[in-house]
Amino acid sequence: MVLTKKIHNFSAGPAILPQEVLKEAAEGILDFTKGLSILEISHRSKEFEAVLEEAKSLVKELLGVPDGYSILFLHGGARLQFVMAPLNQLTVNGYAAYVNTGTWATGAIKEAKIIGKVNVIASSEDKKFTYIPKGFTIPADADYLHLTSNNTVYGTQYRQLLESPVPVICDMSSDIMSRKINVSKFALIYAGAQKNMGPAGTTLVIIKNDFIKDPGRTVPTMMSYKIHVENNSLYNTPSVYAIFVCMLTMRWLKKVGGVEYIEKKNREKADYLYAEVDRNPLFRGVTVKEDRSVMNATFVLSKPELETTFNQMASEAGLSGIKGHRSVGGYRASLYNALPFESVKALVEVMQEFERKKG
Ligand SMILES: *Cc1c(COP(=O)(O)O)cnc(C)c1O
Repeated sequence: MVLTKKIHNFSAGPAILPQEVLKEAAEGILDFTKGLSILEISHRSKEFEAVLEEAKSLVKELLGVPDGYSILFLHGGARLQFVMAPLNQLTVNGYAAYVNTGTWATGAIKEAKIIGKVNVIASSEDKKFTYIPKGFTIPADADYLHLTSNNTVYGTQYRQLLESPVPVICDMSSDIMSRKINVSKFALIYAGAQKNMGPAGTTLVIIKNDFIKDPGRTVPTMMSYKIHVENNSLYNTPSVYAIFVCMLTMRWLKKVGGVEYIEKKNREKADYLYAEVDRNPLFRGVTVKEDRSVMNATFVLSKPELETTFNQMASEAGLSGIKGHRSVGGYRASLYNALPFESVKALVEVMQEFERKKG
């Protein structure tokens, strides 16, 4: 199959993967080992064991995960972690501190409240989640603090790590492996794979071993971090294929230069696009500049009546997936690791052409 037109994929997730990864993923379906497809071998075979071990070691290497942490690939998406985290870590008599920075943080809070006591210690809901709350105090007696590092829907992102007196749980679904992080500052990191590290179907969990404790309630077996750690993500059949494609994507990331390299590239892409959003009188950013996301750039038209024209120009130029989230409208260009700079250039060219025609 040959595509006649270059498609620039700005999808928020499931999102763009490197072309070479897609090819290898396709080959794995047809012939992974000895004429067998990756789809038809046992998850307990030594061939899959090698995939799982390589995926884990790539996570360790790319993110600099220190000793004393376990790396899991689980089912259920980031949303299952909204429940699993409090179920395992929120004690029966204790409470958890949450920061509400958008749609996903709101979802995490809602689920945690089903399990136990939650204090929302800071929120940017007052201004439609267009900024990251700052200067709040983290209570020293909370079981944990829950953060969402990047707000996929509204396009804001923590620039600075918070110093916390209590263990930090962080939903990194939409910026995992996009920038260097100090894993030792977190007790639990989780990320649905489908934004920045692979296809949908598996969720990366990095958990500090001595954070796993008895919350004082019975945790169903499939929801227990302890069980999944003891069984090396193989308590039940894991998402074999999704883990395989994550491994391929991480191999690619390592080959191109790792997280440090991709962080620079991601910055360049975001700076280039935001510069045009700020310069071009037909566009306007929607979030506070210092909190702008490097992964999901959101913007609106200063003349909304020109929407149809802009949409048409964008689609003719092969720009895909720039429509804003259904809850906020406007535009959102997701600039994940695999998106090449030339795609951002193509978007900026359309914005400039639009200005020449309609400005
Ligand atoms: C997409 C997303 C989710 C939801 O992930 P699922 O894997 O669909 O459950 C949660 N949190 C953040 C920050 C996201 O971007």
